[in-house]
Amino acid sequence: MTPMKWFYGFLKKYRKLMICGLFLTTIIAALSIVNPYISGIMVDDVIVAGNYDLLPKLIACLVAITLLTCVLRFLYLLMFETASQGVLYDMRSTVYKKLLEEDFNFYSKKRTGDLMSRQTGDMDAIRHFVAGIIYSVYQNVLLFAFALVMIFTVSPKLALCMLVVLPFTAISTFKQSKEVKPAFQRNRNCFSSLNAFVQENISGNRVVKAFAKEEFEKGKFQVENDRFRDAQIKGSRVWMKYVPVFEILAYALTVVLMLYGGYMVIQGEVTLGDLVKVNGYLWMLNSPLRMAGWWVNDIQNFITSVEKIYATYSEEPKVRTPRFAPKPEKEFDYSREKLRGEVEFKDVSYRADDEDIVKDISFKVAAGQTVGIIGSTGSGKSTLMNLLCRFYDATTGQVLVNGTDVRDLDLYNLRDNIGMAMQDVFLFSDTVEGNIAYGRPDCSFDEVKKAAIMADANHFINAMPDGYDTIVGERGMGLSGGQKQRISLARALLKDPSILILDDTTSAVDMETESYIQKQLKSIKEGCTVFIIAYRISSIKDADLILVMDGGRIIERGTHSELLAKDGYYAKAFRNQYGEIPEELLQKKNIA
Ligand code: ATP
Ligand code: MG
Repeated sequence: MTPMKWFYGFLKKYRKLMICGLFLTTIIAALSIVNPYISGIMVDDVIVAGNYDLLPKLIACLVAITLLTCVLRFLYLLMFETASQGVLYDMRSTVYKKLLEEDFNFYSKKRTGDLMSRQTGDMDAIRHFVAGIIYSVYQNVLLFAFALVMIFTVSPKLALCMLVVLPFTAISTFKQSKEVKPAFQRNRNCFSSLNAFVQENISGNRVVKAFAKEEFEKGKFQVENDRFRDAQIKGSRVWMKYVPVFEILAYALTVVLMLYGGYMVIQGEVTLGDLVKVNGYLWMLNSPLRMAGWWVNDIQNFITSVEKIYATYSEEPKVRTPRFAPKPEKEFDYSREKLRGEVEFKDVSYRADDEDIVKDISFKVAAGQTVGIIGSTGSGKSTLMNLLCRFYDATTGQVLVNGTDVRDLDLYNLRDNIGMAMQDVFLFSDTVEGNIAYGRPDCSFDEVKKAAIMADANHFINAMPDGYDTIVGERGMGLSGGQKQRISLARALLKDPSILILDDTTSAVDMETESYIQKQLKSIKEGCTVFIIAYRISSIKDADLILVMDGGRIIERGTHSELLAKDGYYAKAFRNQYGEIPEELLQKKNIA
């Protein structure tokens, strides 16, 4: 599919409305012929021939036509405005829906500001085209044709002379169109870049302030701002140099009329009234010539925007639900089949950018078991969980849940069964209750409170000014790191998942709170498999299986005591955190 075909798909729904609008535009164009015609009659029959009785009728006619034109103009403007808003509404929804379907790979490559520009600035260029340019081009081309026909009825020779300018206009339009396209592309890129910069700076304003880099960022902004301004000016210069060309061509028509038309009146080939008539039609010929330059601009701007939006839209997510998976009854209906939390990784490797992120991972966990994952930073712990949630697909090997490859499971169903408290906590600009109930908006307040109690969040939430109704900012402004983590944990727990993933979730809470949370986790429903990623031995020591990761591989595995007995990486981590390993645990190693 080409970008234009894709765009036409949106226009199709409003075809009837637009055809009605174009029909009214046609009537207005036809009515435009009448006024100059009446002016001609006024000169020939009223002023020259002295037939003054005609005057009131002609004036009444002029007024009636003007009023009718006003009403029709209002109607067709309304139609095109309605159609353009409709097209934009549908397009925005479609693109947004697609953005939601995109996978982690897509978002890790894209800048938020760029994507925002697609949904705002580029969409506006499309609205402008549908609301203003389509009828404007149609109406003016029609006026040109009508005027030419009318002049032809007065004098075919004069009409033919008027046509002389057309080839020049066509050549200029073509040349301008070719030149402005790259200028507009550059323009849109600079606009996106400026947007992305501003968005990043606003989101990261705390870092900017903490490092006192305001002046530095101002300088960087200046560069982006300059680039955008220069691109705009450069683009404007391209089309500005064509403005005089189109103006000259438009005036050339007046010159042709005055010289040749005047000559014809002197020769008696046409009357003075005819000349007034043709002069009245002159604006109808002039107008499209004058507007041609603007249209080329707006049309190229529109084409560039459609191409840009389509390029984002047409990126297909690599991770998607299998075709044979049953379709949900409602769109985005996540409440489907419950899975048992049995998890198996079979020789799983994941490569990104020609680099092994995780390699040869194999382990099996029965439903209801707890798995602790520990390892150096960047060793691939979060990546393992991302593979389990299918944020990425394994390059080789298989990740199985409930004995089925995750790639064969309905994506939404799989994720519905997983409760994840992510390492990088994100809270929405919503109430605390809204944030906790995000995965289950239909749940009762008691359920929200129960989850908060389990995550040891109830206490501090109650101490907040509006309790559970307190609004927390985009990034949970006003909350401490540990508080955010606990809200995120409550959000994951409330889902009542089959698999619970806690990625570094208790790293920012004190030992006492962590110990409370661990006790609570033990009480969660039977059969829920829990993955705990942590640096602290205390967070994972009671797990049924502990995986120790380094450089993307599992280097040690076993229970707490088995790993201490091995005296390897885990034992070293234990020593770093607690000092010496108890003697009886080390003896196990000697026996082994
Ligand atoms: P930490 O303890 O700091 O959270 P981690 O063990 O969770 O670390 P991962 O987030 O799994 O580490 O990342 C492992 C490595 O893979 C890192 O070096 C990271 O930069 C890289 N990585 C992760 N995902 C991708 C990706 N999609 N593309 C490229 N590199 C990636
Ligand atoms: Mg991580």
